[in-house]
Amino acid sequence: MSKLKELLLAGSEFIVTCELVPGRGHEGKAIEQIIEFGRKVASSDVPIHAVSITDNPGGNPALSPDVLGRELMEMGVEPLVHFSCRDVNRNMMESRASALARGGLNNLLVITGDYPVGGYDGMAKPIFDFDAVHALRLLKSMNAGLEVPGRKPGTFNRLPATDFLLACAVSPFKRHEAELLPQMYKLEKKIAAGADFIIPQLGYDMRKFAEILKYLKYRGLHVPVFGNAYAVSKGAGSMMNKGLVPGCVVTDELMATLSAEAEAPDKGKGARLERAARMMAIFRGIKFSGVHLGGFGLKFEDFEHIIRRSEEIGENWRDHAGELRFSQPDEFYLFPEDPDLSFAEERCVPVTTARKRVLSPNYHVSRCFHRYVFTEGAMLYRMGRWAYKLLEKSKLLTRAAYFFERNIKRALFDCQECGDCALFDLGYLCPMSRCAKGQRNGPCGGSRNARCEVDDDKPCVWTLTYQRFSAAGKLDNMRTQYIPPADNSLERTSGWANFFLGRDHAAKMSQPDMQQNVKP
Ligand code: SF4
Repeated sequence: MSKLKELLLAGSEFIVTCELVPGRGHEGKAIEQIIEFGRKVASSDVPIHAVSITDNPGGNPALSPDVLGRELMEMGVEPLVHFSCRDVNRNMMESRASALARGGLNNLLVITGDYPVGGYDGMAKPIFDFDAVHALRLLKSMNAGLEVPGRKPGTFNRLPATDFLLACAVSPFKRHEAELLPQMYKLEKKIAAGADFIIPQLGYDMRKFAEILKYLKYRGLHVPVFGNAYAVSKGAGSMMNKGLVPGCVVTDELMATLSAEAEAPDKGKGARLERAARMMAIFRGIKFSGVHLGGFGLKFEDFEHIIRRSEEIGENWRDHAGELRFSQPDEFYLFPEDPDLSFAEERCVPVTTARKRVLSPNYHVSRCFHRYVFTEGAMLYRMGRWAYKLLEKSKLLTRAAYFFERNIKRALFDCQECGDCALFDLGYLCPMSRCAKGQRNGPCGGSRNARCEVDDDKPCVWTLTYQRFSAAGKLDNMRTQYIPPADNSLERTSGWANFFLGRDHAAKMSQPDMQQNVKP
């Protein structure tokens, strides 16, 4: 069992993790700084319990966190390795996880990952074969000993169990209801899939951080949550303010503050460390289980300063509760105002949200079609099954039927022919064409103003799905239904045939072990 897991299970200590970002290449200044940081952590009594290493941050190539994690571990420092879904398919994920387990690197922060922005000789291909819920489920299954097909058909073997400690992320700094609630719903799915603790995206609104604790309390979920205190500089803040760092929000008001602070002789360094220390003290005060510290270019001594200063603040954290409230214009909050972060009962009951209306004719026609054709037991369902059983006896008829299906679905949904259709799971919106990361279990963390992280001319498809499920009175589905990954062997085959003949994920979803024990 990793030291971090022991600490979390003990629950008696406020845990500190520090995030470091490796550079590109096998050596260089950024990498040397991480090694130097590791040496200082190993030889000091500063309470830094783990060092977190990012995985090709910002969608750019960088030295693998697995390699640096290994080196830190050899120094006696506990690594927390980021494990993203962007660059590899499920097989490489499993093989990477086996390598990590064999190397004793058991603490993983499982994330979707920022969309690729660069690479050798042009932009890298985004893979996103899995979303973060799929990845957590795979890693949790490995902890139980993965069941794999045996030599004889129908037989299975169980692989040796791993012992991963799994963290997941959530991005509460969303301006709109239709952005925020899907984040919380996906968080519930991540917990049900196996997340052991939560590290939120960075932000500067303590009310939004507190809402994570309130949401879990309201849902009866007891999972450790860390705060995220990123000592933001004017430079980094300006990039976040412009939306250049997916999911990271620096409001105009905070940007003005950072600019004023940068006028100081220390270019604002003192102020940014003080802000991080105050956030850390507040996180400790309102009973987060720990804090995830970060900051561009920070040295060991800077992290030490933040930690010691937060201890100095101690019980006076309330003095600062009101100052870290950088919210976006008309930002949606799930819980009533709580100026002193008292967590009083009446302030821990979510606001009621109005049922949405959807005008799209495509949505209403699809819903009708689904009810009478694609619902087991429906009038035309049996006919569909019978027809496809018949059709599949003839290659020509199969091709003709698929030609018809393909062109209808392309016109209506921009179908990408995955063959494992998830239209129903997203309210008749296609995750393969409408979501740049093909997310099947809820949004990534990168949307901004309900616009897609990758193409802000487009709405994040999950905000539309939220509105459609709200209109249909089926919001619980977004929270409780685990959507398996696409089976790529079905690519370029008939999604209708695969559905009626029980070859796609919809058939799997009815299997008892497929649905996760998400709280009703
Ligand atoms: S559509 Fe939404 S979930 Fe998909 S990549 Fe864009 S922001 Fe992320």
